[in-house]
Amino acid sequence: MKNKNLIIFYLLLLIILIVISRTLIKKQKPISFESKLIKSEYYNKNYKKRYINYYKNNKSLSINQIIINVNIGLDYPFYKNIKKTDLAKNNLILVNKYNYLEKTYIPKLETIDEKYANKNMKLTPLAKDAFEELSKNAKKENLNIIAMSTYRSYTYQNTLYNNYVNKDGKDLADTYSARPGHSEHQTALAIDVYNKTKSYLEFENTKEFIWMQENAHKYGFILRYPKNKEHITGYQYEPWHYRYIGINEATYIHSNNITFEEYYAKFIENKK
Ligand SMILES: [Zn+2]
Repeated sequence: MKNKNLIIFYLLLLIILIVISRTLIKKQKPISFESKLIKSEYYNKNYKKRYINYYKNNKSLSINQIIINVNIGLDYPFYKNIKKTDLAKNNLILVNKYNYLEKTYIPKLETIDEKYANKNMKLTPLAKDAFEELSKNAKKENLNIIAMSTYRSYTYQNTLYNNYVNKDGKDLADTYSARPGHSEHQTALAIDVYNKTKSYLEFENTKEFIWMQENAHKYGFILRYPKNKEHITGYQYEPWHYRYIGINEATYIHSNNITFEEYYAKFIENKK
């Protein structure tokens, strides 16, 4: 009788152990790549195939980074798969090698006070006010931050780009000059600066540049083409080129050391 009870006890124990181990095995089964994708807050169902293809060649990246990179368009070469930029984003419009402005796009323009700029430098009213404030406050510390190139029309950019192509060839020209419609200068939210004593190409080696690194975001400007981000922005490092986006956005980008492309893909593109 005692033995019978013991046998039943061991049988029950065995069944319990089997049930427990089976549920554990089930839990350990890896979650599929696709279900991980869907869980990401940045997931766009229209890009599902692109995420999967991009993942195949970039397995070391996190799921979120794969999604962000594809949302930016980086699974295509620059200037492939281009689209008209969303003008409703106002100060946050994205113009780069995947997003363009039409030939007819001309923003509202105001001329910057010549205390802070070369002759006839124009920006949108908000960007102009912000830049004047920035330059005025830098001046209080005996620093000259002067606008030397601001709004450029589609036609002007077309001439500029074609001159560079004739000089350096298309491949090289593409690393430092935008194709017409793809220049951020057409937004009138972008600005190239110098300190008046040195060429803009040497801006990095000036006190003004150090000041800009510490203060530009407080006026709503970001360094648009930072060092080591060429694979995302599509441009070589440009210490002289700044973009107005607004104080909160610029502060976030500055403190998180990300590009505008990444910020746009995360927070702007799908915002209603
Ligand atoms: Zn520029």
